[in-house]
Amino acid sequence: MNLFANIVSKFQVRAFIPLLFISIVFGLPQNMLGQQGSRIRTVVIDAGHGGKDPGALGKHSREKDITLAVALKVGRYIQQNLKDVKVIYTRTTDRFIPLYRRAEIANKNHADVFISIHCNSNPSSKPYGTETYVMGLSKSKANLGVAKAENAAILYEDNPRTSYDGFDINSPQSYINLSLFQNTYLAQSLNLAHLIENQVKYHLKRKARGVFQAGFLVLWRTTMPSVLVELGFLSNPNEEAFLLSQKGQIYLASAIYRAFKAYKQSFEKENALPRQPLPAKTKKASVSSVKTVVNQTVTSHTPGVEYRVQFYTGAHLYKSPFKKFPQVTNIKVYRSNGMYKYTSGHFTSINKAAQHQKAIQQLGYRDAFIVAFYQQKRISLNKARKLKLAGK
Ligand SMILES: [Zn+2]
Repeated sequence: MNLFANIVSKFQVRAFIPLLFISIVFGLPQNMLGQQGSRIRTVVIDAGHGGKDPGALGKHSREKDITLAVALKVGRYIQQNLKDVKVIYTRTTDRFIPLYRRAEIANKNHADVFISIHCNSNPSSKPYGTETYVMGLSKSKANLGVAKAENAAILYEDNPRTSYDGFDINSPQSYINLSLFQNTYLAQSLNLAHLIENQVKYHLKRKARGVFQAGFLVLWRTTMPSVLVELGFLSNPNEEAFLLSQKGQIYLASAIYRAFKAYKQSFEKENALPRQPLPAKTKKASVSSVKTVVNQTVTSHTPGVEYRVQFYTGAHLYKSPFKKFPQVTNIKVYRSNGMYKYTSGHFTSINKAAQHQKAIQQLGYRDAFIVAFYQQKRISLNKARKLKLAGK
């Protein structure tokens, strides 16, 4: 179920640009996504499989050996070139680590990014190329197949059913249940995943099959942006040779390293946006072109506490959100913590906002929630209530 794919709206560009402007210029408070700091300091590199679990087998290769070799190279490139980043490996030798334990390592170390490295396999020897996954419900049998193959690692564990809440790798319902744990960091995970695939496609000039979602147990409980990279197919003789070669491993490791570096830079740049109002001079100089529009909104805006229903968060700024969300009315966007937050409606009464929240949820945005603003700034609902009681 993709909550966003089949949803759409009406929307006023007039309201959109000014609010965006206000958000960028003045900055808005951090929100519930703000558990992460403003810098990427710790990355966990997870070499898939190991020990008694060889992973996929090629004619001349075992997945566990290639994932370890590439993982160690990725970590080394990061350590050599990004001195402010701490690299943690889930394993540095050929040993078995349960999937849940890998997520635990990332969570306990408060990692900012989790990168799991794997190799693909297919009954046919034809498919080749990289695939990068983020947690979610697979939209194709092929993607489900990849998740099932990777999740089969739990069959080497002693008590898989208790460790994974009764998860059954072959039950479709198990995968649906898993997708309910859609992570808070989906947009950021997708961002990193696309950067990896783009590195492969444009820098290595190799086949990048794209970014997909599927239910991977290793990503299930991570509490940070997380991706799983399939480096290539051991079932394809040419690709197997490439994956076994030093050159191939260096190429793929550097692609992941560069993608991580780009992700870190853009994340930190976005988070370095000013959060305090800028002096008036700077405002005029930097965005004079939208100034008239801004004035228009400021005057038309609710002066007191305003409630809106937030239904979507993403890394992308949609220039025409009414096309992206055609069923949703009165869309506004604000920016916080490097992400774009899309809201619908504006109300002075929280009860009216709650009615609207239900309507938005019925459109499929089940996680839609009410947010409050005061003088163009995001405030907590508690603060909004107090301001209302004070007659604001
Ligand atoms: Zn694997």
